[in-house]
Amino acid sequence: MKIKQKLIALFLFIGLAPTLAVSSVAYITISNELQAKTSEQLNSVAIKQEQKINSLLQKKQEEVSKLANTYDFQVSLGNYLASHKATDHATIAAILQAKQIEISDIQAIYVADPTDGIVIASTIDNTEGQKLQKSDYTIANGNDTAVNVREDQRDGINKLYITTNISVNKKEAAVMSVVFRIDDIVATIQDYTGLGTTGETIVASKEGDNTVSLFPLRFDTDAALKTKLNSLNLTANDSYKTATDYRGHAVVIATRSAGFANWVVATKMDQQEVLAPINQLRNSLIGIFVVSSIAIILIANYFARFFTNPILQIARTSQRIGQGDFNAHSDIQRGDEIGELSNSVNAMGLSLSAFVSRIEAERNRLSVVLNSTAESILAIDKQGTIIIANQAASHLTGRDLHDIVDKNISELFAWQQQGKPFEVSYTTDGRTTYPDLKFIDAMGDEHFVKVLVARVVGEQEQRAAQTIVTIHDETKSRELEDMKIDFVSMAAHELRTPLAAIRGYLELVSFKDRTLQSSTAGYIRQALKSATELGGLINNLLDVTRIERGTLTLNMEKVDLAATIAQAVTDMQFSANDKQITLRYAGPNNNCSVVADQIALREVINNLLINAVKYTPEHGTITVSLDMEDGSYVVRVKDSGIGIPQKALPNLFTKFYRVHGGLDSGSTGTGLGLFISKSIMERHNGTISVASEIGKGSTFTFGLPILDETRLASVQSEQQSQEQIMRRHRGWVTKNITR
Ligand code: ADP
Repeated sequence: MKIKQKLIALFLFIGLAPTLAVSSVAYITISNELQAKTSEQLNSVAIKQEQKINSLLQKKQEEVSKLANTYDFQVSLGNYLASHKATDHATIAAILQAKQIEISDIQAIYVADPTDGIVIASTIDNTEGQKLQKSDYTIANGNDTAVNVREDQRDGINKLYITTNISVNKKEAAVMSVVFRIDDIVATIQDYTGLGTTGETIVASKEGDNTVSLFPLRFDTDAALKTKLNSLNLTANDSYKTATDYRGHAVVIATRSAGFANWVVATKMDQQEVLAPINQLRNSLIGIFVVSSIAIILIANYFARFFTNPILQIARTSQRIGQGDFNAHSDIQRGDEIGELSNSVNAMGLSLSAFVSRIEAERNRLSVVLNSTAESILAIDKQGTIIIANQAASHLTGRDLHDIVDKNISELFAWQQQGKPFEVSYTTDGRTTYPDLKFIDAMGDEHFVKVLVARVVGEQEQRAAQTIVTIHDETKSRELEDMKIDFVSMAAHELRTPLAAIRGYLELVSFKDRTLQSSTAGYIRQALKSATELGGLINNLLDVTRIERGTLTLNMEKVDLAATIAQAVTDMQFSANDKQITLRYAGPNNNCSVVADQIALREVINNLLINAVKYTPEHGTITVSLDMEDGSYVVRVKDSGIGIPQKALPNLFTKFYRVHGGLDSGSTGTGLGLFISKSIMERHNGTISVASEIGKGSTFTFGLPILDETRLASVQSEQQSQEQIMRRHRGWVTKNITR
């Protein structure tokens, strides 16, 4: 319910409740009073009618009684009944005629036998010997008279029949039935109503179960009329009762018993007339109510508008502010609480505006930073939907920004690694780097990338960035790297042929020409040594290009690691001796089988031994060991050399990395030996590592799994199934130590 409706309801309640209460009390009181007054009025009329009827009837009964007790009449009747003389009968008839004439409202007088109602004498001609109606000669036990009202069959008019016993010589001799006109009774009843136009008096009698009308209605045997009279349920001495009269009108009735025990005089009034003042009062109250309600609603409406209009205006303003229109302003100028509310909403709008501007500026700055990075940056939510993307991401994917945002990241990037589909997990906690991935952009171009996936901590919201994906496009550097490898490979190949010729001639001269002076022979040997060294470098370069391109093929077979090491150490003794270095092998000489490419394995051992000799000063010691540890053979080459600084260790196995290799240091080398060694060990499922302390020496360790026949079989069958096994016919040329 809105405030307006609530206010109207409240006003209506406050305004109308007392009025309603007072009106109800007044209405009930006045109704009761009116009812009492009406009842009194009806009652008083009923009593008057009762008295009048009683006195009229009494008078008529007295007249009849007087007539019956007339001396002459009694004598004549006595004589007649005794002897049946005509003279006596004539006397009776004359007396009766005289009485009828004397009392004007008498219509007829009958004297009849009380046992069978046969008329003895009458004022009406030719009725003697006829039989009276039973009610006209029957008198109830204990009563002196019988009174009936009924239709006179001679003229069809309602008449009053009073019957009384006639005693002669104190013996019941006959009955006298006197017929009266009832005009005087009807007139009396009608005159005395005094109840206005609708007032009416009914005199009715109960005859068995039926009520029949006596006065003023026509005596009627009409069944319908009887039903209506019955429905009035007239019982004596009701002071106020409501009923429906014979006309179908709602009436109020007061009743009295009158005349005889079964007679009821009822005065009635139309209820309409009785209720008229009450209805008028009710209508006036309703009128007052309606008018008051309208007035109250209008006033409440005015008040409601006074409160709600400004509130609605403020609500509209805050709605507009909520929709981002921070200039929205409510111009209500009031000193009350509503004015205060309006001011706060305006102030809120202003501070929100400032706040949003700050956020926008911040966002712009962020977006500048985001868009100026070369890396593609994507923020994704829980479901992997991209929420934020920078310009670089647009370039990388070949799509417009709006074509990236709201897309799922998996729609944009189908990752591949080494030619196979690759799954990047965007939901793993912490930071994960995925190197060497490839994907194809919208234009169909291939990109080689490194992907960094970092989970955002603490963001629980549905649409919040859960993960930041940074994609570093390495396609260009990869292309450059490829070009470099191509160039190195091509140059190395081109150098190999002339170098072979130079070495051939030098060897020819050195070994065949005995005529050379010793100094010349020394020069030539030196030239041959350099050419051999150069050959080693070229081979190293070729190995690197093969490793980089993935074209380095290995011939995996069963190799005795111990024998290979023992042989390599022996071969290296000459170089060690040159520097008076003690080179020792402390391990078995055979029976340590591994799966390996014999030549590549020898290359690794040679590289480590050459380095040990190279970086160990004269009189130093080099110890080579072979142990069995956790299912692997572990080879350690330990020297007492110059050592390697701690910070150089992580980069030691990377391409071209040299610790002691400044051009001005005088130390020669390419920084490829350890890189090649590591690559070879990786291809053998082996490990290689270093521990070193500056000035004290270094220990290079490599490990290979102990031979597993099943693995050997599977590796060899894999090799054979390849269509062309490119058997390398090159020799792994060991380095020479430059002293
Ligand atoms: P190169 O010896 O041709 O320079 P390597 O890859 O074999 O290349 O070695 C890389 C670098 O590691 C060397 O330049 C050298 O500084 C360092 N190094 C390798 N072996 C040892 C060692 N036994 N003692 C000290 N330094 C070493």
